[in-house]
Amino acid sequence: RDSWGTFPDKYDWSSEEEEPDGRARPVQVLVVKDDHSFELDEAALSRILLSEEVRDREVVAISVAGAFRKGKSFLMDFMLRYMYNQASDGWLGEPDEPLTGFSWRGGSERETTGIQIWSEVFLVDKPDGRKVAVLLMDTQGTFDSQSTLRDSATVFALSTMISSMQVYNISQNVQEDDLQHLQLFTEYGRLAMEETFLKPFQSMIFLVRDWSFPYEFSYGQEGGMQFLEKRLKISENQHEELQNVRKHIHSCFTNISCFLMPHPGLKVATNPNFDGRLKEIDQEFINNLLVLVPWLLSPRNLDVKEINGNNITCRGLVEYFKAYIKIYQG
Ligand code: GDP
Ligand code: MG
Repeated sequence: RDSWGTFPDKYDWSSEEEEPDGRARPVQVLVVKDDHSFELDEAALSRILLSEEVRDREVVAISVAGAFRKGKSFLMDFMLRYMYNQASDGWLGEPDEPLTGFSWRGGSERETTGIQIWSEVFLVDKPDGRKVAVLLMDTQGTFDSQSTLRDSATVFALSTMISSMQVYNISQNVQEDDLQHLQLFTEYGRLAMEETFLKPFQSMIFLVRDWSFPYEFSYGQEGGMQFLEKRLKISENQHEELQNVRKHIHSCFTNISCFLMPHPGLKVATNPNFDGRLKEIDQEFINNLLVLVPWLLSPRNLDVKEINGNNITCRGLVEYFKAYIKIYQG
C-alpha cells in the first residue's frame, strides 16, 4: 500500500521531479543492492538539486534515519504537511484526510536500504531575510545482521554527512546498542571526511517513539533533554567502553537533543486498513506532533548545511554527495 503526494500547486516551492501527472513524490537516490554495492542515482539527484530555482541557494538538509517499521515515513508525511501549509495554523490537516507523501505501510516485509528524497525542494524565508532551500530525506537501514549492519552504517553515515539535521528515530528507549550503532555510523562518516578542528556534524536529534515513561521524563523536548543527559552522562565508574561511546557522540555533533513521543494508539500500530487519518490517532500523539514538527522545521530553526565551516548550496551538496559515495565504493 504505497501512497504518493497529491499536493496542490500553489506554494512557493520550486525544483521538482514530477510524475507524469504532476505530483511530487519520493525519489530513491541511493540504493544498497543485494550484493552490498551502492548505487547513486546521480541523474535524479541532479534533476532535483540543480534546477535553476534552487541550485545556488544555501541548503538545509533534514534527514530521518533508523530501522524499518518504526514510523519514520509516517512522521515525514506530517513534516511534508507542515512544509506545504506552514503559513496556516491548520497545517496538520483535516480529521478525515488520509496521509500521503513518503510511502509508509504496515506489515513487516523488507524494504530497500537506502536514501529517498522528496522531489520538491522547498524555498523558505528565514526571519533574518535569507531564502534557503529545504531538502527532506528519508533513509533506512536494516540493522539485523552483520552484513546489513555495514550497509546501514554506510547509509546512516552518508545521510549524516550530507544533512544539517539528522533525526535518529528509535523505538521505545535509547538502548546501549542504539548508542553503539550511532558510534559505528558516525565513525564511518568521520573517517571519510577531511580532518578539521571543527566537529564533523551538525545537529543530532534522538527521536524516541512510543515512549512509555512520561511520569519519569515527560513527553517532548524538555523531558527528552533530561532523559538524554542522564543517558549520555559519562561517569568514572562506567565501563570504559560505555564512556568511549558517549565521548565519541559528544565529539561528533555540534548540537544534540532529544524528543520523547507518545504511542500513536493501536489503530496506527496494528490496523492494516489505517490510512493515516488524524481522527484515528491518539490525541496525545497529535498534541506532540504539533510541537515536534514546528520545532524541527519552523523557519528560524532551519540551519544551513555547513562543511568545514562553509555554508553549502544545493549545487555543493550534489558534489559532496558524489565525492562521499566514491569513498564508500572504494
Ligand atoms: P518506517 O519503515 O520507519 O518508515 O515506518 P512507517 O512509517 O512505514 O511505519 C510502519 C508502521 O508503524 C505503520 O503501520 C505505521 O502506521 C506504524 N507507526 C507509525 N508511527 C508509529 C509510532 O510512533 N509508533 C508505533 N508503534 N507505530 C507507528
Ligand atoms: Mg519508510
